[in-house]
Parts: sequence; C-alpha cells; structure tokens
Amino acid sequence: MVAITLAGVTKAFGQVLVLDGIDLDVVSGEFLVLLGPSGCGKSTTLRIVAGLEQATSGDILVDGIRINELPARERDMAMVFQHYGLYPHMTVQQNIAYPLRLRKVPKDEQNSRVREVASMVELEPFLERKPKELSGGQRQRVALARAIIRQPNVFLLDEPLSNLDAKLRVSMRSELNRLHHEFPTTTIYVTHDQIEAMTLASRVAVMNEGRIVQLGTPQDIYNDPQDIFVASFVGTPEINRISGEIHNGAFVGQDIRLPGVRAPNASKAALCFRPMVVSLAEPEGAIAEGSVYSAEYGGDTTFVTVKIGGTLIMALVPPDRRFSFDQKVGLTLDPGNCYFFDEDSGLRIGQSGRTQQ
Ligand code: ADP
Ligand code: MG
Repeated sequence: MVAITLAGVTKAFGQVLVLDGIDLDVVSGEFLVLLGPSGCGKSTTLRIVAGLEQATSGDILVDGIRINELPARERDMAMVFQHYGLYPHMTVQQNIAYPLRLRKVPKDEQNSRVREVASMVELEPFLERKPKELSGGQRQRVALARAIIRQPNVFLLDEPLSNLDAKLRVSMRSELNRLHHEFPTTTIYVTHDQIEAMTLASRVAVMNEGRIVQLGTPQDIYNDPQDIFVASFVGTPEINRISGEIHNGAFVGQDIRLPGVRAPNASKAALCFRPMVVSLAEPEGAIAEGSVYSAEYGGDTTFVTVKIGGTLIMALVPPDRRFSFDQKVGLTLDPGNCYFFDEDSGLRIGQSGRTQQ
C-alpha cells in the first residue's frame, strides 16, 4: 500500500500554465477522485503521477520518496484510459495476460491468474474473443482486468466510464466500488462527472483552472462548499444563485429579501440554495414573489422554474402539484439551508445552518 504526495506541482506547456501549484496527499488505500470541467488539468495531473509527463516544478512523492525522475515503467502504477487501448489482434485472454507475459511469468500461472481476474469482472465467457467482438462495457472490463492482473501499487484511472452509455456507467460504477472494497489499492480517478465522483470517492479534489479549489469527502463537497465554483459544479439540478447584497443580517436582491442571515455585510454577494430546499406557496408572506416560467413533470418530482427579478431559479416540488405558465408564486426558504459567497473572490462568507448540524 502506498501514499502519494504532490507538493507544489506546476506544469506549463510553452507559455501556458495548466497546473498552478497542486498540493495533494493521497492516503494509502483511498479512492481519490479528481473532479473538474474539461481542460482544468485533471489528465495532466494524472500523467505526471504516472510519469508520462514531467512537472515543470514541484515534487511527486511515493511513501515520502521523491520520484520525479523515476521512469513510468518503474513506478508500479497501472493506468486505464477512456479509450481502452486494447490490442486488437489479441484475444481477451491474451490482452489480460499481456503484463504477465512481459514479466515472463510462467504460462500456467498466467492462465490461472487470467481466469481469476476474468471471473472478478465477469469476462470468463469472452476469453477467446477479439476486442472488436465485444461491447464497450466489456472492452472497458478487459482494460480494467489487464490493470488488475498486474497487482500494481496504484491505480490511475482517467475517465474510464466516459465512453459507455448511461445505463452501463451506473453498473460499472458499482463494480468499481465493489472492486475497491475487495482490493483497497490506492487509486486516483479522474472524471468530469460529479455523480461518478460523489458515488465512488473516499475523497474528492475539485479542480478548476489548474488548481484544487476544495478537497474533502463527498459529503463535505456537497454540504459545505467553500467556493462558489464547487457549489455550482456539484449537485443536480444545479444550485440556484441570486445576486444581491447582505446588509444587517438580511440578503437583499431584486424582488427578494431573506432575513435571518448569519453572514457579515457584503456589497456583492451571491445567495445559493439547492432546488430541493425551496418551497413554493402563496405570494403573501413569502421572501420573494415570482412567476412560473416552466414546470416539467419528472415522475417523482416536478421541476419548476420560477422567475424572480431577472433570475431563473429551480424548485423541486411534489409531483401532485400543478402549475401553470406565468402563475404567481411565493418562495419560502430557510436561511439555514442557504450559502452565501463573495461574488468577487468566489469564497464562502458566513456559515450555513447545514454545516452545524
Ligand atoms: P482535463 O483532463 O481536465 O480535461 P488536461 O489535463 O487534459 O485537462 O489539459 C489541461 C490543459 O492543458 C488544457 O488546456 C489542454 O489543452 C492543455 N494541454 C494538455 N496537454 C497538452 C500538451 N501536450 N500540449 C499543450 N497543451 C496541453
Ligand atoms: Mg482529461
């Protein structure tokens, strides 16, 4: 079992700085997810850990030993990519056995280990097929099996489920969860998909523009976002955001006034709240009055978009309620379920009630 540390890692491609000081401790045996939008530097970070890319400055340590100059093949890390990277002319059996063949493991042992790993990822019936005779999900399982069979110290996974259809992604997710439970190997997993991150991670590092903006458990990231980027990036449907100011314990924006706010005065503030904490009621006595922009039936819930001032916000309401276009509605909201951010720095101001539960 190994721990990985990135200390002040930067990476520039020519003049462009794509990693701007990454500090990260990956604990031995944990499943750490790097989550962020496309282009934020996730793959570059992973490739630096793998040794496929050199850091411009900073250190990479494994169990406290600096490995910056250690060649990729000597790092004992197995990497799985979005594009499976299987050998098309080899059978599934040969693809999975390949790392053992390279190490000149005796044929008998190769065969028994392939069978063992193939049964873990349910590939036994397909061992004689070529990759082109497999579905996307089966191919990705071959790539995983080929990584697992090496029994590496570290797994590095770069968007391994992105090429799969939605249904398969969900089932592969639970297989990965189970696999990590059975073989708790130190894992760094890259994804832009926040649901994948929340469901798989022991901890999530949220990245934006070459930096880690927040590191925490999925619960921390969801319930206690420290930065407006994190609040907006995590959660479906997206968190609501209204601009205004905080003055003497009240948030005031266009057509909204929310008292009982525990945050210091701020002239440019954002009020954020998740769609499930809003209630829609009669306009009288509500903190804001708005009109229904659209309402979409979604089975268990109805998604109602309400226009308040110039801003559209979303509320999740029970499916038995009916709304008509342009109907006047009042919004009720517990300030304890709200987050406030400084609009200039993006940083959280004040505490929400949720964080103190
Ligand atoms: P992510 O995996 O989060 O989508 P990447 O790490 O692949 O992001 O890329 C981060 C940034 O670095 C992007 O702007 C990308 O265009 C740039 N980049 C990545 N690799 C190279 C390269 N080899 N040469 C130049 N720019 C690169
Ligand atoms: Mg990438």
